[in-house]
Amino acid sequence: MTQVAFIGLGHMGNPMVRNLLKAGFSVKVFDISQAAIQSLAARGAIPAYSIVEAAQGADIIITMLQAGQQVEEVCLGTNGIFSHVKQDILYIDSSSIDITTTRELHRAAETAGINMLDAPVSGGVAAAEAGTLTFMVGGTEENFNRGKILFEKMGKKIVHAGSAGNGQAAKICNNLILGISMIGVSEAFTLGQKLGLDPKKFFEISSNASGQCWSMTSYCPVAGLVEQAPSNNEFKPGFAAKMMLKDLRLGQHAAESVNAAIPLGTAAAELYTLFVNQGNGEIDFSGIIKMLAGEE
Ligand code: NAD
Repeated sequence: MTQVAFIGLGHMGNPMVRNLLKAGFSVKVFDISQAAIQSLAARGAIPAYSIVEAAQGADIIITMLQAGQQVEEVCLGTNGIFSHVKQDILYIDSSSIDITTTRELHRAAETAGINMLDAPVSGGVAAAEAGTLTFMVGGTEENFNRGKILFEKMGKKIVHAGSAGNGQAAKICNNLILGISMIGVSEAFTLGQKLGLDPKKFFEISSNASGQCWSMTSYCPVAGLVEQAPSNNEFKPGFAAKMMLKDLRLGQHAAESVNAAIPLGTAAAELYTLFVNQGNGEIDFSGIIKMLAGEE
């Protein structure tokens, strides 16, 4: 039986582990929060009290941490994963982190005889709970095929994005579109309203015209137009503005590293910085419409 170790049991990690347990996997869990470990132990996970304990004997190890620095520490630290695993394990990082760190980790893994995939996700907490995440995966085809048995239990759409780091590249580029398009939709609805357009009428028109996009038709920042949108719930996340800002900054970092011009991405990062600095970090990212409408 495949022994899984899962490190990082936060908003995303917790429901992902629950889906693996539901699918019948044996999962050892570790987090720096004891409460996070205990809540999953109560559901049948095996508690581990250190990274080393979690990693020992594991066939596949997954990390779901916030940032590159944490992933680096968990992998390469003195008591990290890379120096305490059996040969031929598969290591999967599903955190959203910078491409430079991801590619460095792929190189370190190769040196240590560890098979690695970067496999960030899209979909948020609701999709993590429903087991309908989208996985975008970077690494060799052989490792991708090996990881699939787990991805399929936690996600609905699983795409091999290419070689090492390409999963993170896909995630960063996707969220670049998302941040920019949410600002675009917010600006258009705000302007339309000031010009005397009824938002319902404008939605009916634009959602069937060339302005149509996910930010409008699945996540509209104006309340009352899309049933499940956080705008109907006072912008409770959802996807917190501080997380969007983190991803836009990863996009800027990535663009600088390959000398790519992303002027709208840079402008979006500046607007989200302003929004977060005004105390809105925990609000859903679609709440930026309030700032653009001059209500903040
Ligand atoms: P989170 O902060 O809720 O969870 C991170 C967990 O890691 C916490 O439980 C923390 O205690 C633990 N941790 C931190 N340092 C550790 C260490 N050294 N050893 C072990 N555990 C440690 O974050 P999250 O919302 O679950 O997000 C995880 C990743 O998924 C992030 O990279 C995020 O950008 C990405 N993501 C999040 C969402 C979302 O909607 N929350 C959606 C898509 C992608």
